[in-house]
Amino acid sequence: MARYESLLDACGGTPLVGLPRLSPAVPEGAPPVRLWAKLEDRNPTGSIKDRAALFMVRAAEESGHLRPGDTILEPTSGNTGIALAMVAKLRGYRLVCVMPENVSAERTQLLRMYGAEIIFSPAAGGSNQAVATAKQIAAEHPDWKMLFQYGNPANARAHYETTGPELLHDLPTITHFVAGLGTTGTLMGTGRFLKEKIEGIQIIAAEPRYGELVYGLRNIDEGYVPELYDASVLTRRFSVGTRDAVLRTRQLIEVEGIFAGFSTGAVLHAALAVAHEAVRAGNRADVAFVVPDAGWKYLSTGAYGGTLNEAEEALEGQLWA
Ligand code: PMP
Repeated sequence: MARYESLLDACGGTPLVGLPRLSPAVPEGAPPVRLWAKLEDRNPTGSIKDRAALFMVRAAEESGHLRPGDTILEPTSGNTGIALAMVAKLRGYRLVCVMPENVSAERTQLLRMYGAEIIFSPAAGGSNQAVATAKQIAAEHPDWKMLFQYGNPANARAHYETTGPELLHDLPTITHFVAGLGTTGTLMGTGRFLKEKIEGIQIIAAEPRYGELVYGLRNIDEGYVPELYDASVLTRRFSVGTRDAVLRTRQLIEVEGIFAGFSTGAVLHAALAVAHEAVRAGNRADVAFVVPDAGWKYLSTGAYGGTLNEAEEALEGQLWA
């Protein structure tokens, strides 16, 4: 389908593309092992968060929590804020975002362009501090409405009702689903749907190695566990270092021409690990992984150029879980 009544109707329905060059070679006669990328940057504001923002706003409207002209308050790493800003503009709400003061310049520029207001929380506390600050502000403004992506079932439901069914439709032979853990909405919603439909499917999470930073992702053992998180949905968790995330992000551009953000690199690292395991075990595998966003918003970090050491240094302090 290519014609939509409005931009909101154009959320989701993203392409799933094969990675013929990055998929591991298998010995002659062995079953195929293939990697597939779900390109979520092909959403209206350029990230997977358009799905969650749309579902959360719709659910709040249907329940009467949101009324025309209301102010929405949300702690966000950027992608959710940008997605909510677009939905809020089209549905007639004011949006106030709370985010750490060290997010990339592109994020604040985009948010302001969409008409959102920004309240900065201290950089040192990362997204956990943004959540705490937003809760304080909410207490001071009882009429402002928080959708709270970390605990809002409509976030995971967006993926249960759209991302999951799209993957099943496009890749009925899927054996592994790999995505990053942020709010955990992508993995909880898509994972639950696919487990109901495909026996034995593996649901695999990529998270930053403890103490390291990959934008948009969080390590579940580092303090705050999102209310949406249910460990029983996951088959495995992979910890990925910042350096490997950068390396894989660059490899994806170089080998397959896909220009992704750095959380994709972490996800790809885990996807490649399970693909190579399948080759060693002699198993067939169709490994689908999520590309949550493209690289545009991260260009100013400088981490797409230079040596890996320079890239790692450039990202230090700019990425937060
Ligand atoms: N990657 C990026 C770039 C993100 O912005 C997010 C959302 N914070 C994620 C991955 C993780 O997605 P989810 O919140 O659904 O777990």
